[in-house]
Amino acid sequence: MILVIRPDATLEQIDHVIETVRELGFTPHVSRGESRTIVGVIGDEAKPQVENFSAIPGVEQVHRILKPFKLASREFHKPDSAVYVGKVKIGAGSLAMIAGPCAVENYEVMDTVAKYVKAGGANILRGGAFKPRTSPYAFQGMGEDGLKILKDVGQKYDMPVVTEVMDPRQVDLVCRYTDMLQIGARNMQNFDLLKECGKANKPVLLKRGMSATVKDLLMSAEYILAEGNKDVVLVERGVRSFEDSTRNMLDMSAVPNVKGQSHLPIIVDPSHATGRPDLIPAMCRASVAAGADGVHVEVHNCPEKAMSDGPQALLPHQFLDLMGDLRRLATAMGCEFWAPPEK
Ligand code: PEP
Ligand code: MN
Repeated sequence: MILVIRPDATLEQIDHVIETVRELGFTPHVSRGESRTIVGVIGDEAKPQVENFSAIPGVEQVHRILKPFKLASREFHKPDSAVYVGKVKIGAGSLAMIAGPCAVENYEVMDTVAKYVKAGGANILRGGAFKPRTSPYAFQGMGEDGLKILKDVGQKYDMPVVTEVMDPRQVDLVCRYTDMLQIGARNMQNFDLLKECGKANKPVLLKRGMSATVKDLLMSAEYILAEGNKDVVLVERGVRSFEDSTRNMLDMSAVPNVKGQSHLPIIVDPSHATGRPDLIPAMCRASVAAGADGVHVEVHNCPEKAMSDGPQALLPHQFLDLMGDLRRLATAMGCEFWAPPEK
């Protein structure tokens, strides 16, 4: 349910609304917009106390949200939300370019790839230290040593970093080293992990599960928001299909589909969606044209020696060319890739 607060309500009245919602046994979530404050009310809408909400001074309207996701819905927050990762703004016209190797392999590779992607205009550096691999015999990631390398390299190039967290017990550790927590496709419905990340004070990059619907994705985002973490960025990374010439099938319609239903930023990951460097640039361009709030790509200076996802990595010069195209497209779309202010 949503309580729309009167534009002339005093701060005391708003505080009183929040207190009363709590006293009636519901959980309030406040969204302060430029002209309006809205209070999302989570709880059993069948309770008779619901009738009382319209009587609280300062409340102008009471709306029931019919969608199963509430805090993630457009009804709760009309304008596009922006999420900050360090200084980097994602959403509301500001685009993210998240780039880096699939896994943190060693300092040298991380440093080399970071140098190239930074020069190309990437604004967030990625690299997995805990890798969800199909085979238990495949490289599982460097763990904490990898987190240290990622953090050091991020600082060296003045880029915030994002890395995957696979287990609720890893959240504290990963938070010490990263600027953004990634929840991978395989863990999109790991509800304990979603709740733990919802309690963390880091933004979350939530990837769509490979057999998840758009609604499932938004419900998973709701788990994080319901714990109090408002900073969620969604990722379309393709879903499983009968097509076997690409790694997954990229659902580009998920971008406007999510945007219609939710205020949360959504970016696209054509690397995991297609698994093919020959298709990735076109799909990145399509993402920006579809209105995505950014793109996520894997880049490696020597894909043949990469310890995971080498075949889908872009080479540094391919990344550079791609960014040139994407910047022009972004201008045409009335947005821009976030860049640090010139010194
Ligand atoms: C990754 O980003 O390296 C990754 C494992 O992605 P996904 O969870 O989308 O498969
Ligand atoms: Mn990968």
